[in-house]
Amino acid sequence: MTSVQIQVVVDRDRCIGSGNCVFWAPASFELDDEGMSVPAERTPDSLEALQVAVDGCPTKAISIEVTGTEAASGTGEQ
Ligand code: SF4
Repeated sequence: MTSVQIQVVVDRDRCIGSGNCVFWAPASFELDDEGMSVPAERTPDSLEALQVAVDGCPTKAISIEVTGTEAASGTGEQ
């Protein structure tokens, strides 16, 4: 049984609106009217894509928290 929940948080004090996260995980982020990244309520992108978005954020404004269990799926998580 697989039940994984991914919580994505963007620190708006750090976000500079570069849009990298929207590029790497377009289903999970969008830029708001102020040009700041807002994570979607649900994060349909893969954990791998989200991790690339985290790593690709120039100001390290994105954090993700994975909860739940993953059965036999060996993601690329460190
Ligand atoms: S990559 Fe980082 S700085 Fe750029 S829009 Fe996304 S959260 Fe903001």
